[in-house]
Amino acid sequence: MFDKLPVSSKTEKILTKALDEEISVEDANYLMNVKGSDFYPLLATADFLRNEIVGDDVTFINNCNINFTNICTVRCGFCAFGRDADDADAYILSDEEILSKAEFAVKRGAREFCLMGGVLADADIEYYEHLLELLKGNYPDVLIHGFSPTMISDAAILSEISIEEAFMRLKDAGLDTLPGTAAEILTDRSRALICPEKVSTQEWIDIVKTAHDVGLTSSATIMYGHVETLAERVEHIDILRNIQRETNGFTEFIPMTFMHEYSPIFLEGQSNLGATGSEDLKLYAVSRLMLWDLIPNIQVSWVKMGYRFAQIALAAGANDLGGTLGGDELSEASGAPDGVDASIETLSKIIKDLGRNPIERNSKYSEFYPIESNRIEILSK
Ligand code: SF4
Repeated sequence: MFDKLPVSSKTEKILTKALDEEISVEDANYLMNVKGSDFYPLLATADFLRNEIVGDDVTFINNCNINFTNICTVRCGFCAFGRDADDADAYILSDEEILSKAEFAVKRGAREFCLMGGVLADADIEYYEHLLELLKGNYPDVLIHGFSPTMISDAAILSEISIEEAFMRLKDAGLDTLPGTAAEILTDRSRALICPEKVSTQEWIDIVKTAHDVGLTSSATIMYGHVETLAERVEHIDILRNIQRETNGFTEFIPMTFMHEYSPIFLEGQSNLGATGSEDLKLYAVSRLMLWDLIPNIQVSWVKMGYRFAQIALAAGANDLGGTLGGDELSEASGAPDGVDASIETLSKIIKDLGRNPIERNSKYSEFYPIESNRIEILSK
């Protein structure tokens, strides 16, 4: 594969090995640092493996975010969305407002409600059950991907129940899948700098494993480019793959590049400017080489990268383009370069332009739906 490429012998050796097995932490650390003529062979190897493992289909979901509140007790250093309860623009959506957003999304064909928001001081398990029952009662066919490990942990403490019981109650009330958010970087050193009030690394691991144990699948995320080292990115991915070996509960891995512009931690001069483009692409490629088919779906966040760069990341080992995501106010507050509401036609065009096949999916990657070809023909006229 590398016969005619000017790749260094060490990189070639690791990339050749990567075609047969998941790479080690040591090799991943080496590849995170490659530059020059070793860069493209890394991307090409990840893209080759992506094709071997999941083929040329690129999936995405027609979904909408319902951010039920922006009031948050946690106040992470990277977040431009959270507010204190007495801030002038703080809000908690009423039931009517939640249903109105849901109705709008369903009319546009949404298959998933992504139920996210801040962490309220008094949100116990009944609060989250109510949100689920409200949506499931009115839209039983739409899957709910909702809440974060930090919310569940706080709710379980408030309601004096175990994490396991909390998940079982939420599942009974209509929770279909759990976002693997609040992971950020799974090292306590970085967490102390960017989100000291969130669950610790070990608590996050335990909560997510419990969700998987009660039969809820989840996504897995990384939010990188702020204060962490390259080695911590690798350590994070290694933690995720070790969880997956135990539970097989992750459906996808979602790298989320840090959007620095409006984040408190950047404005206070305590973080980096975010990752560079080559760092983003190396993260995608190294993830594919570390995760192989343990977590076969690697998602590109077009909301955070913009359409153009998201398309390039799809050629560096990724195979999913996330969601149409109407109403993602967290990313909007951070300065999403191309907005937060894509059409199926736009996502399909990006994918088809790469010579790949756009396919709609559900939240669980268990059902797939062909895109109506006439929509794409209309777009290309
Ligand atoms: S990222 Fe989530 S938990 Fe952190 S401050 Fe923002 S809304 Fe709150």
